[in-house]
Amino acid sequence: MFCRNCATQLDDKAIACIKCGTDPKKGLEFCSNCGNPTDPKAIICVNCGVGFLAANKDCNKILAGLLAILLGSLGIHKFVMGYNKEGVIMLVIGILTCGAVSFIIGLIEGIVYLTKSDEDFVATYVTGKKGWF
Ligand SMILES: [Zn+2]
Ligand SMILES: [Zn+2]
Repeated sequence: MFCRNCATQLDDKAIACIKCGTDPKKGLEFCSNCGNPTDPKAIICVNCGVGFLAANKDCNKILAGLLAILLGSLGIHKFVMGYNKEGVIMLVIGILTCGAVSFIIGLIEGIVYLTKSDEDFVATYVTGKKGWF
């Protein structure tokens, strides 16, 4: 792997860069897979195609999963994940059914989110924009 901050080649299991001292997965300047310069806003490397979101979105997966289970009937996890339309639908369903139906949807979605791998979660919900389950 390459340091995403300074492009130094490192051991795959390195937790800090031996040259710049930062977390090698947290930088935005270089691809961790091929060391090519990357656009800080890019979500994949245009040179080798590797995705960058898996490491950074880890906490969002857990946050979305917990919100879905705890506050699923309000659709909060949908808003957190950027699914505003689905969030409003969840909220309306929740109001119409006194939270029963949307609570079950949220519970199922929360379990689905938490049991997915990071790569799978990003591919499905961040890249794929899948709105439900
Ligand atoms: Zn570095
Ligand atoms: Zn690359």
